[in-house]
Amino acid sequence: MVYIVCLDITKMLRPIAQTMIVRHQATAAAVTMNNILHETLDSIREAGTFKSERIITTKQAAKIQVAGSNRKILNFCANNYLGLSSHPEVIEAAKLALDKYGAGLSSVRFICGTQDIHKELEEKISKFHGREDTILYASCFDANAGIFESLMTPDDAVISDELNHASIIDGIRLCKAQRHRYKHLNLSDLERLLQETQSARMRLIVTDSVFSMDGDIAPLAEIAALAERYDSLIFIDECHATGFLGRTGRGAEEHLGIGQPCDIINSTLGKALGGAAGGYTSGPKPLIDMLRQKSRPYLFSNSLPPPVVASASKVFDIIMADNSLIAKLAANTKRFRSKMTAAGFTLTGKDHPISPVMLKEASLASKFADEMLKRDIYVIGFSFPVVPKGLARIRVQLSAQHTEEEVDQCVDAFTEVGKQLGVV
Ligand code: PLP
Repeated sequence: MVYIVCLDITKMLRPIAQTMIVRHQATAAAVTMNNILHETLDSIREAGTFKSERIITTKQAAKIQVAGSNRKILNFCANNYLGLSSHPEVIEAAKLALDKYGAGLSSVRFICGTQDIHKELEEKISKFHGREDTILYASCFDANAGIFESLMTPDDAVISDELNHASIIDGIRLCKAQRHRYKHLNLSDLERLLQETQSARMRLIVTDSVFSMDGDIAPLAEIAALAERYDSLIFIDECHATGFLGRTGRGAEEHLGIGQPCDIINSTLGKALGGAAGGYTSGPKPLIDMLRQKSRPYLFSNSLPPPVVASASKVFDIIMADNSLIAKLAANTKRFRSKMTAAGFTLTGKDHPISPVMLKEASLASKFADEMLKRDIYVIGFSFPVVPKGLARIRVQLSAQHTEEEVDQCVDAFTEVGKQLGVV
């Protein structure tokens, strides 16, 4: 036993010695930590959930190249829904901002980190969503981390869909309100919790408007009816909706044709809206005023860099002037979903560019994705714990940048691999 421990330490000393220039000998604490980390990593590998990163050597786009290959690969797994991440006008706007406003602010917003372009973008987003005001964050993860703790006290109740995004779950963990979870999309469970929390000062129903693993859309009309009956506020995370869902890209409310019943919108600039980075909360002015005073990721984290602000701002200009990319994405989504269903595949969700192809077995999903790459189609298999056990899938994401031929190429590759692996 002692012998084995000694061997492990010798093995550990090498990488530590290489990285620690100041200390010549690893401390016992560092060795302990490294041992623990190796055990953790081994268990992730054994569980088959270790995530490795494929290296892209080109811009983000429908056609990319990856390290070690000169082949052009069709990318069907980015959140680049409108294909604007590398749009020439978006890049140009970022370059101009870099020249005029610099690389970054070296400050948080309230000290000396607010430029005119930050205020302009916040106004543009408010106008886009038809809300009173907007506050920018470095990411939507931060927006979700900041809002619940700032708004909800122990006198209040948060009622959250059990499959909400990890950043919402973490954000709610930070707040001291009564916390309740309802079964995914289950309106009677939600109603039960609304009834149980009637004595709270405020109730906040919290849901992703689009759930990214299934491409399913929250029943916001029914949720709004319950909110009205039981006097609750509604928060939606629109990361997989803003810019492209609905005829003019206003999101799930527009897609469902229900007006604007949601009180608070959180969303990201890191997906359809240029894909650089950034997130925001849009809603009533007093809420945004309060977040500027109290939200910790806003108060204690650096301002969004000017090129990022400018690229997102240009994307809003593009989509507010013209709906053609939104229409193209909807057409691509319809084409892919109907051709895949006709080919015998089962897809979840409806009318959303997130089009998960259900394969059930984790090993089948990863083998399937490997076979697709051999055919120059880049898709990713998702399995437990990211999705429930036995519900492994390949999550295809359409983009407005894909041509009809590329969508068909993807369907043909799916059909060929599906036949080879006995799926269809
Ligand atoms: N909310 C949802 C539903 C998301 O899918 C994501 C990103 O994966 C986030 C929040 C976080 O967004 P960001 O990348 O801007 O931090």
